[in-house]
Amino acid sequence: MSGSEFDIIRRYFTRPPTDKPSVVLGVGDDAAVLEVPPGQQLVTCVDTLVEGVHFSDGASPAAIGYKSLAVNLSDIAAMGAEPAWATLALTLPGNNPSWLERFAEGFFTLADRYGIALVGGDTTRGPLSISVQVHGLVPKGQALTRTGSQPGDAVYVTGTLGDAGAALAFGLDEGHCHTRLNYPEPQVAAGRLLRSYAHACIDVSDGLLADLGHLLEGSDLGADIAVGNLPLSAAFRLAVAADDERFHSLPLGAGDDYELCFTVPGVRCAAMEAALAGAGIDFTRIGIITESCAIRCLDAAGRAIGVSLHGYDHFSGGR
Ligand code: ADP
Ligand code: MG
Repeated sequence: MSGSEFDIIRRYFTRPPTDKPSVVLGVGDDAAVLEVPPGQQLVTCVDTLVEGVHFSDGASPAAIGYKSLAVNLSDIAAMGAEPAWATLALTLPGNNPSWLERFAEGFFTLADRYGIALVGGDTTRGPLSISVQVHGLVPKGQALTRTGSQPGDAVYVTGTLGDAGAALAFGLDEGHCHTRLNYPEPQVAAGRLLRSYAHACIDVSDGLLADLGHLLEGSDLGADIAVGNLPLSAAFRLAVAADDERFHSLPLGAGDDYELCFTVPGVRCAAMEAALAGAGIDFTRIGIITESCAIRCLDAAGRAIGVSLHGYDHFSGGR
């Protein structure tokens, strides 16, 4: 993007040197130099937000900045890791100072909350697209993965489900569900604690059933989910009538929750629940891992109920 590229980097994305000793060299050189402490492993992920696909052209720049980092922190949380550094690849249609200012404000609000240093990136001209990469740390061999669930494990989720889905489905432009869609809080503290208790963990970004499906992929396992136990916020209950089909389909199938779904062996459930409760983290037991090779949704009487499809696959076209 020529001259103004450097101006943009300097004005919006270069901050005073961090006091993070792990950043040997940050923004400004050809690459960043980072120190991985002994006994730790690097955990890394990247996510891209594209205008028109992940957000509309009128979306708030602060929300885009916040969410582009939040979705990555959610992946880092699901690994039981501690986020440490980020890089930011920005493709911009032009140099729009007020947009950039608000984007940076949203991004750094969340970065500062988790002590994350922005250590580099790339700035180019083109259709608006944002790629954020986050690097985290986890004690060697302790990363929490999608595999490892066992029959009889309890299935839990943090927080509430379906709020972001309700905001999208009903076009809510204020209130709790709207905030949950635009400013999701990544479950970093929960992921860190779960390292000691969970068999497997995934973040719920594509919808509970889709992501639980990923957790069971490659195993011969299934799960029974008690639909009546799904955690719903008061705002969700206000927005969606209990006899509306979406009262079940949004918490089961809509994406963008950014909660954690995890499995815990029976013997560790009480200790896990005490640890999360002690840290002020909300969680709900929603089901159990089975040997059935399928996910079944059960009503209060234990009868399987049909739920129509869910999740978002960019290459199969739609929800
Ligand atoms: P190079 O041409 O060597 O790839 P650049 O001119 O692209 O370097 O970037 C110069 C410096 O600014 C690098 O340290 C790079 O990581 C950083 N940088 C570029 N764009 C961004 C951005 N959007 N946010 C943070 N740092 C950035
Ligand atoms: Mg270079």
